[in-house]
Amino acid sequence: RLWRGVGSTRRFATAVDSAHPYHIKVAKAQECANGLCGAIGNTPLILLGGLSRETGCKIYGKAEFMNPGGSVKDRAALYLVKEAERSGQLRSGGTVVEGTAGNTGIGLAHVCRAKGYKCVIYMPNNQSTGKINLLRLLGAEVHLVPVVPFDNPENYNHQAKRHAESLKNSVWTNQFDNIANRLAHMETTGPEIWAQTRGKVDAFTCATGTGGTLAGVTRYLKEASDGKTECWLADPPGSILHSYIQSNGKLQEREGTSITEGIGQGRITENLARELDLLNGSFTISDIKTIAMVYRLLDEEGLYVGASSALNVVAATELARQLGPGKTVATILCDGAHRYSDRLFSKSWLREKKLESAIPTALRKYSIL
Ligand code: PMP
Repeated sequence: RLWRGVGSTRRFATAVDSAHPYHIKVAKAQECANGLCGAIGNTPLILLGGLSRETGCKIYGKAEFMNPGGSVKDRAALYLVKEAERSGQLRSGGTVVEGTAGNTGIGLAHVCRAKGYKCVIYMPNNQSTGKINLLRLLGAEVHLVPVVPFDNPENYNHQAKRHAESLKNSVWTNQFDNIANRLAHMETTGPEIWAQTRGKVDAFTCATGTGGTLAGVTRYLKEASDGKTECWLADPPGSILHSYIQSNGKLQEREGTSITEGIGQGRITENLARELDLLNGSFTISDIKTIAMVYRLLDEEGLYVGASSALNVVAATELARQLGPGKTVATILCDGAHRYSDRLFSKSWLREKKLESAIPTALRKYSIL
């Protein structure tokens, strides 16, 4: 009936809008993505209501768990592969090799599948079968190698490098020191946060694994805001970066460990090296605060995120308190809790890690495994 009035699309729109207001939302939907690679990035920036009310600030988490591979590392994976193509190291039918125990491997496996490359992943042999199976079903060739430190030539990173060197038309993507990783966040994550907050972002904080996210977002936000956006590192126990920053550049031995995965660093990676001077400061966040925030975000916001996301939100909240009411603080929700549910939501695991008492009694109902 509505279409009979051809020539009057305006009347059509009005009729539909008033009768079915949800159609207005459809008009605002994102553009179509060109394949999996086109669907990486452009994630929502989620206002965390409870923490925002509590601090009088706006605290936002960038929903990186909504990337196709489920984490912030999809962005880096795409840029690492694009850089290898641009430099001519990787041509049609080639092989991407990386040493990774986590999200980067999953991101690379997705991107390689979508672009028709082979993907070879080296990882320590103490990783969960869930992760290994996922990589294999995405088509990656997985090599499990003994757990040895970085300075041992048999460490998974060095084995990945040697594997790539032994093949023609192949690349070792080297996420830690390849600055295409940082560029992904300088060109996408940073600008998205700036646009989504309409340039009103007083502070940003996140933890680092390779450092790509922190360095890239910091570089962009500092430039866009004329240095006004404060950028802070959030460090888990066992990482050397917080003490490195606090002591004006003294490298100390790693001390302590953390339940967080994918974050914490024992050295200054190439991705971080140039941006450390831009940072306004750093926090170290205890596992007790992190695990409590995993449960709080689930209970209060319905967000099912991993420990690094929770650590980031604790840091964003501390930053908001430090800056005072009325400010806007952004951070990264790096991935979902799916890959860690058998730990984060397991009673016996919490007991083993002496973290049971960190969960407020009312929220213990979520540790059901
Ligand atoms: N959180 C998780 C769950 C990760 O896997 C990683 C990457 N290892 C990070 C945070 C840190 O990201 P980046 O490597 O950009 O520092």
